[in-house]
Amino acid sequence: MPAEEPDPGATERPADLMDKVVGLCKRRGFVFQSAEIYGGFRSTYDYGPLGVNLLRNVKDAWWDAMVRRRDDVVGLDAAILSPPAVWAASGHLTNFTDPLVDCLQCHQRWRADKIEGVCPACGSTSFTEARAFNLMFKTHAGPLEDEGAVAYLRPETAQGMFVNFANVLQTTRKRPPFGIAQVGKSFRNEITPQNFVFRTREFEQMEMEFFVPPADAPRWFDYWLDERYRWYVDLGIPESQLRLRHHDASELSHYSVATADVEFLFPWGWDELEGIANRTDYDLKAHAAASGERLEVFDQASGDRYVPYVIEPAAGATRTMMAFLLAAYAEDEIGGEARSVLRLDPRLAPYQVAVLPLSKKETLEPLARSVLTLLQRHFTCDYDVTQSIGRRYRRQDEVGTPWCVTVDFDSLEDASVTVRDRDTTDQVRVAIADLVGELDRRAGRE
Ligand code: ATP
Repeated sequence: MPAEEPDPGATERPADLMDKVVGLCKRRGFVFQSAEIYGGFRSTYDYGPLGVNLLRNVKDAWWDAMVRRRDDVVGLDAAILSPPAVWAASGHLTNFTDPLVDCLQCHQRWRADKIEGVCPACGSTSFTEARAFNLMFKTHAGPLEDEGAVAYLRPETAQGMFVNFANVLQTTRKRPPFGIAQVGKSFRNEITPQNFVFRTREFEQMEMEFFVPPADAPRWFDYWLDERYRWYVDLGIPESQLRLRHHDASELSHYSVATADVEFLFPWGWDELEGIANRTDYDLKAHAAASGERLEVFDQASGDRYVPYVIEPAAGATRTMMAFLLAAYAEDEIGGEARSVLRLDPRLAPYQVAVLPLSKKETLEPLARSVLTLLQRHFTCDYDVTQSIGRRYRRQDEVGTPWCVTVDFDSLEDASVTVRDRDTTDQVRVAIADLVGELDRRAGRE
């Protein structure tokens, strides 16, 4: 089969990139509006068959870089429901607020720091005084809805690491510099959720608290800025769409002495993917004071006990997934026909390989299925027998599958298959016996 040449110049961002990616997400089963059959529940989303793979791959890539490939970071999975004591000590009950204003003309409510004095709905510049709106979701644990039963859904995963600090020290014998990492859901009652899954009320975070001797904190802060920036580049975000931005003093959270954001060039402009903060000893000291537990470490060299400082890289998994989609989306032309393609890194692609029997004829099915079983041990695979082979290639390109493996009638004779590359559309014949090795090599796994 002749290779279809893609048009190399056609990878610029389309003007309506956001609409195209949102449309693709719905049409191909990445992201659905939550409770859509009931008219939808605003700002909440469900991840469909492809989205759940992509999101999981984003989280796995983070876990791989932050935990599995390091001997100085351990994992944790803490509860989402938490008692008020945690959030009183951490300062969130008092400080985790956004400034809320009402437009005096159309009465819509806005986050004052995001609208630059002009109502996005009606253009008015008259607002109420800003008041502090706490973003935490409050609920009740158990059958009594009294004050003693109040519980909160965590607005960040980080506090799980602080309240388990002593447990982790005792059970792992780790000593600074070391980190505790967690991936999981967080909840914030955002005043204006917006931009698809960029800002939602329920979302997933990937956070790591890295505990260091206080004097070493600035050095580790720089180290993690660099590590985290390179993580996005390594997974395919072009450097032209990525930058680090340091916060000035007025922007800092209540616990931070230095913060820098990794920002991505979203269709609406630069916006945050991840914040890296020097949280000092604020959280450990606060929890030690409130709980009466000693949350400190022993320094063998000096013989002193001290409370470590914390460097925190805090990223959003769902927000980051969206950035990977936006960066990967491209349009080009193949043999005179327009195609849309997701140039996702193979580690992130929802399917890494699609096994495609050339025809629906039953003679190809057993061999195609045995190739599928072989590949499933190593890769996440799709299997598709519907429509023409050309249509099937386009469908796989559109969802970012890096390689299609076509089983045809010759395969029955020569025990070989055709491997087609998503980006170049080149096709080569590969012996089934060499297939796993060939795809491993292409995936950079050797
Ligand atoms: P923002 O200023 O955008 O509200 P933030 O600075 O409060 O965000 P952090 O507390 O630093 O955010 O949270 C760490 C990361 O968690 C963010 O960089 C982002 O990727 C993710 N995140 C925070 N809030 C949301 C949200 N409402 N929806 C999706 N992801 C979020």
